[in-house]
Amino acid sequence: MLRHADDIEEGAALTADVCIIGSGPAGLTVAAELVGSGLSVLVLESGGEQWDPRTQALAEGRVSGEGFRFNSTEVTPDLVRLRQFGGSSNHWTGMCRPFDPHDFEVRAAVDGSGWPFGAETLAPHYVRAAASCDLATDVFDAGWWRDQAAATLLADGHPVRTTVFQFSPPTRFGTKLRPLLDADESTQVVLWANVTSIDTDPGGTRVDRLQVATLSGRRFQVSAGRYVLAVGGIEAPRLLLASTASAPSGVGNSNDLVGRHFMEHPHHPSGRILFAQPREAWDFYTIGQSTLADGRTVSRWAGLGLSAQAQAEAGIANASVQLYPGLEGGDLRGDRDRETMAMRGIGRLLARGSSEPPLGVLSVRTEQVPDPDNRVTLGRRLDELGLPEPVIEWHLNPEDRTTLRATIRLVGEHLAATGAARVELDPSGSPVEDWPTEIGNHHMGTTRMHVDPNRGVVDENCRMHEVENLYVAGSAVFPTSGMANPTLTLVALAHRLADHLRT
Ligand SMILES: Cc1cc2nc3c(=O)[nH]c(=O)nc-3n(C[C@H](O)[C@H](O)[C@H](O)COP(=O)(O)OP(=O)(O)OC[C@H]3O[C@@H](n4cnc5c(N)ncnc54)[C@H](O)[C@@H]3O)c2cc1C
Repeated sequence: MLRHADDIEEGAALTADVCIIGSGPAGLTVAAELVGSGLSVLVLESGGEQWDPRTQALAEGRVSGEGFRFNSTEVTPDLVRLRQFGGSSNHWTGMCRPFDPHDFEVRAAVDGSGWPFGAETLAPHYVRAAASCDLATDVFDAGWWRDQAAATLLADGHPVRTTVFQFSPPTRFGTKLRPLLDADESTQVVLWANVTSIDTDPGGTRVDRLQVATLSGRRFQVSAGRYVLAVGGIEAPRLLLASTASAPSGVGNSNDLVGRHFMEHPHHPSGRILFAQPREAWDFYTIGQSTLADGRTVSRWAGLGLSAQAQAEAGIANASVQLYPGLEGGDLRGDRDRETMAMRGIGRLLARGSSEPPLGVLSVRTEQVPDPDNRVTLGRRLDELGLPEPVIEWHLNPEDRTTLRATIRLVGEHLAATGAARVELDPSGSPVEDWPTEIGNHHMGTTRMHVDPNRGVVDENCRMHEVENLYVAGSAVFPTSGMANPTLTLVALAHRLADHLRT
């Protein structure tokens, strides 16, 4: 059942077996998976079915440090997340890829790397996540695409590999799951309900209740057996840090880890590519469609990256090089491209002094090393409901720039050696530090997962180490960020969390 928070009596105390805060892809996947489990589920969502500017303003905050740019425009937290039923899936691009097996491992080049489990643990949940995101297939292996979709590959293994991404339609999780959740008698979805505090027992070891408020002034409480915080990688630390009724440093934050290790996916338009072969040879690397052997059409975009071994040998993190074709006229502004990142940076690069018309621009999306000084903290300004604004402190590290430089160089050398293309790094000759950087709208790591409570906020089941009945769903739990877009992985983790809650 869906209800409006203003229809709940002032001062009421609602109860449920499981309370989920937030209705984005993470929260709604958990809710949908709990239908039929015998558990009563209550979802609290800040927004409604339509976008509302006053609600959106609750997400306002600041960025300090390095510029946080999207399409060459400085952006703030309220511009990179939606406060609405379905969360940011209402405007995501839908680009999907699972993390690589080595993303889960301890890697010498990436301080703080290593997930509590390997890729094989998440594999069955990726299959479910692919269905949740309405992907045509859960297979991303380049060889399979060569055989099943007649893809011509520019690289097939070591040291350079092809990295396949697929596009979700894109799935709007609210629209898709509304009928199921509305019809289910054990599920309540309360819209326009803002959680303003997570209240724990005096020791901070159990959540007792949530304080909820609406913009019309209604206030009520919710008590549940277990709670799932699914409000995204910026709002999760914000709410935990702001909930100081029983714990002065915030809920689950005795070790000062909540909000730290914030990671984005920096995107760097880095070089021009001049192809020596006709379009058919590199078409798979442009945003487009492939027809599978069974006749279905799939939206996909392949990139080029280094093998796990090549990354280890170069002492760098993961990255993928994506091609934006300029084509004959040098104009790369297709609608789909306009939706994606880095357009203006790429346009500037295309325009820079060369008499030769380039065929395309390469943009490198890099894994960012987890750095405790990249973090979400609280500012002094309060939102309309009294919650301190989130402040993102963000910068690139030398390791991030090394990953960028080494990846584009090795991919360029591979393309030249195979005679496929010539890559020209930033033609202005500027140092890598000056190359334009864009963000990916991916917010990861702020409640990172680790088996050791001194090194992580949540355990391998996404349960907070310090709070026995509080779980986190979403990319906030990622210990490392890989180079793949986060939603497929966070949905896979949500499926896994739902299984855990069901038992
Ligand atoms: C322009 C854009 C393009 C993107 N493209 C891609 C892409 O191609 N591929 C990809 O993988 N990812 C993409 N993303 C990222 C993707 O949208 C997120 O990874 C995904 O939405 C995260 O899901 P979530 O459920 O964790 O959080 P969200 O989608 O952020 O949902 C959180 C929900 O919690 C609610 N909430 C917040 N605070 C409170 C509170 N205090 N009380 C109650 N409710 C609250 C919010 O209203 C929201 O509905 C894109 C993002 C943007 C902005």
